[in-house]
Amino acid sequence: MFFTLELLQELVTNLPDPVFLLTETGRYAAVFGGADPRFYHDGSSLVGCRLHDVLPLEKADWFLEQINISLGEQRLHTVEYGLTGLDVDGLDNEQGPSGEIWFEGRIQPLSAPIDGERAVVWVARNITERYAMEAELRRLSETDALTGAYNRRKLLNELDERFREFQRYKKPASLIILDVDHFKSINDRFGHLVGDEVLLNISQVCNRQLREVDMFARFGGEEFAVLLPNTDVPGAKLTAERLRQAVEREVVRPSEADWHISISLGASGFLPTDKGLEDVLKRADEALYKAKRTGRNRVVVEPFFMGATKTPNLDA
Ligand code: GH3
Ligand code: MG
Ligand code: MG
Repeated sequence: MFFTLELLQELVTNLPDPVFLLTETGRYAAVFGGADPRFYHDGSSLVGCRLHDVLPLEKADWFLEQINISLGEQRLHTVEYGLTGLDVDGLDNEQGPSGEIWFEGRIQPLSAPIDGERAVVWVARNITERYAMEAELRRLSETDALTGAYNRRKLLNELDERFREFQRYKKPASLIILDVDHFKSINDRFGHLVGDEVLLNISQVCNRQLREVDMFARFGGEEFAVLLPNTDVPGAKLTAERLRQAVEREVVRPSEADWHISISLGASGFLPTDKGLEDVLKRADEALYKAKRTGRNRVVVEPFFMGATKTPNLDA
């Protein structure tokens, strides 16, 4: 069969995904395909323009870098990136998808130069739906369905990373484990659904007390854990005490006003003698156990630390 010019033209015009010919200095030499406005904007106005003429500086730099990676390696280079129609000057934004579009870019070096420049063919495929689904799957695999807090696995992974950082760079981090006091009697007295609400509420109240970098997780049942990066043991003790007070003060009580909800907390930090993160988990757990044994609704730190969480009463 013959490839007539008409046939080739028909082919490139109707390629389902947009195809850009881009030179090593970032010039759009040609744009083909991607005609369906449900997925793509019309990019034909870009021909002759340079990346830096139409894109924000940071993005233009990044695109040029990817072109040169592909040219340097002389092989297919695959990337993922987000763009909105408004990021690109000169596009007709009346047509095409609104909001951020995620693309998979497949960049292949051309064997012949264009106007004396090395060039690549860049195929951009709209993967927004897949990207959103992956993000949702990631979220589901990292969080607990009832409270929305991170789950145990996510916290342990993060703890592992912080522990390596501590070993390498001596960056401190601390761990708090907390457990709801007499939670079984809340369930017994008010029912499992009220128990669930209490867990959700505790999670919300605690999260409000924490920094963006702290990681609050449901460890299992009515037990939670908080990973505090860049925090030494005295700092963890203060945070634990703040959580204890916030729960005591803010958690909504089940119907009967005389019912108090409280938590017990055990805190610990990485020590130079720790062989693995099991050591810090064990200490925090022991501290929690001590807090339970010595009366509940309190913070215990392991190893024992002589810091005051409130002004000490010197007359006592
Ligand atoms: P302590 O002060 O010693 O911690 O006493 P406790 O009653 O809180 O401890 P225990 O371990 O005896 O009871 C924990 C209860 O938490 C038992 C379990 O049924 C309940 N529980 C675990 N997960 C959930 C959940 O997702 N929802 C509800 N409503 N209850 C849960
Ligand atoms: Mg409990
Ligand atoms: Mg428990």
